Amino acid sequence: MFFLKGRRRRRLLQTPLADADRELMHRLAPLTAALPADLRPAHEGAVQVLLAEKHFEGAAGLAVTREMELIVAGLAALLQLRPDADWYPGLDTVLIYPEAFVVDHGVEDEHGFVHEGEDELAGESWQRGVVILSWQDVVREAEAHDGYNVVLHEFAHQLDERTGEADGMPLLADPALAARWNEAFAAAFARHRKLCKRRREVLFDQDAAESPAEFLATAVELFFEYPRDLKAEYQDVHALLAAWLHLDPAAWTAG
Ligand SMILES: [Zn+2]
Repeated sequence: MFFLKGRRRRRLLQTPLADADRELMHRLAPLTAALPADLRPAHEGAVQVLLAEKHFEGAAGLAVTREMELIVAGLAALLQLRPDADWYPGLDTVLIYPEAFVVDHGVEDEHGFVHEGEDELAGESWQRGVVILSWQDVVREAEAHDGYNVVLHEFAHQLDERTGEADGMPLLADPALAARWNEAFAAAFARHRKLCKRRREVLFDQDAAESPAEFLATAVELFFEYPRDLKAEYQDVHALLAAWLHLDPAAWTAG
């Protein structure tokens, strides 16, 4: 079975998107259109794998459309251009609500997930195989160049959770990278909290101060949305993310 899956993946990785799908993805998620030409075939292959292997489900009456699948897979695939791409092995389902959703503390919903905390959310990542997104926020943040991107944020949490713990330390195949990661991110997180206290932080939002996991997920958003600012303000974080993701958006976007 693993053999067949591997063969299917290799075929998908070499399959370009249909022209109409590519146009739709580039229009809805301009970040995917900003990718340098030499990375596009690998990116489209990654999109194909995610479209084939993940279930996309609508919640609260939402019917999933091709554009929803493409925008989510297109953005999530940006985090899978690493040599150690793993295709989010813990993730089965992307659950899409029409808009920001409210979750109640300790209530098991029809999907069998127990939610933590009560809040209005644009997205959530679950260790038990689910990413939950608000379509309204997905589409708005994918279009806007505003520092926010809930898809990148939640899929970054998925990668962080691969170690069994959402602690801001993803599973890193490169031991040299892993050795530098903790110290550099801990220092950046401490700096961010200090700047927040003094109201001097100009890049990361307050939510990133909540935990190392939130800091990492936000850093991944900024890495794509404001790469040059991240590089200027948090050089180590930018360098580690570039080494991990094998990308340098600071070199290919207007920043
Ligand atoms: Zn988060």
